[in-house]
Amino acid sequence: VTPGRIWLVGAGPGDPELLTLKAVRVLGQADVVLVDDLVNRAVLEHVRPGTRIVEVGKRGGCRSTPQAFIERLMIQEAQAGHCVVRLKGGDPFVFGRGGEEMLAARAAGLAVEVVHGITSGIAAPARLGIPVTHRDATHGVAFVTGHTGSGDAPDWAALARSGLTLVVYMGVANAPGITAALMEAGLAADTPAAVVQSATTDRERGIETTLGGLVDDVAAAGLGSPAILVIGAVASLAQARGLARENAVAAPSLRAAHAR
Ligand code: SAH
Repeated sequence: VTPGRIWLVGAGPGDPELLTLKAVRVLGQADVVLVDDLVNRAVLEHVRPGTRIVEVGKRGGCRSTPQAFIERLMIQEAQAGHCVVRLKGGDPFVFGRGGEEMLAARAAGLAVEVVHGITSGIAAPARLGIPVTHRDATHGVAFVTGHTGSGDAPDWAALARSGLTLVVYMGVANAPGITAALMEAGLAADTPAAVVQSATTDRERGIETTLGGLVDDVAAAGLGSPAILVIGAVASLAQARGLARENAVAAPSLRAAHAR
């Protein structure tokens, strides 16, 4: 058999309309689709009848499929001559293990193509009207992980001094540690911040807050994963109007946005 192809495809943050045209085309050619748990299942309407769909995300909300198993399956399917789509939330190369999967495929001598998706780190802030850069506010943006189980946490002190917008993925559980580290390094407690959960889905909710108020406001609003934390001057541009009205949550310490 001629080895099949592997496509690492980003499904975007949730709204199926945020798929790229290329993602739609590639989904329509897939023999097998390996789907992550954050992917909106509505995007699977683009696959052909008979395409095998394998759920490799979290099972029953607690157990994840081991990464090595996913990579093995992806490679075996491609070696069997199938067109394999590995479908991931957001962009496959932003905290999606797309890099690891690409290297595994490459090591097996298989070609991989990437189809970008809109990453939640840009889409979620935008739902509150927050641009991740604005030339009056910041020179750039840092995408960082708040999940520090692996041991190598971001250098929060350096980030606090960077003047960059901080967009934190997987940061809700560790928000107390993250916000404390940033303030310890000198970032003011009244630095504007925002949190958006399940952006662009019907479970979307968000708050504007401050660095110092973030933990309490997240708890008061009952926000949880998946969510993006945005910290920096651009967060002052938030306006809850960006969110579906019934979903927008006014936190107790809701700040008046400066620039309307
Ligand atoms: N590759 C993905 C990120 C995967 S890591 C991307 O580019 O978006 C998983 C983390 O992404 C979640 O913990 C959360 O921080 C974030 N995330 C994914 N989808 C989200 C959404 N719809 N709203 C808010 N955060 C989201």
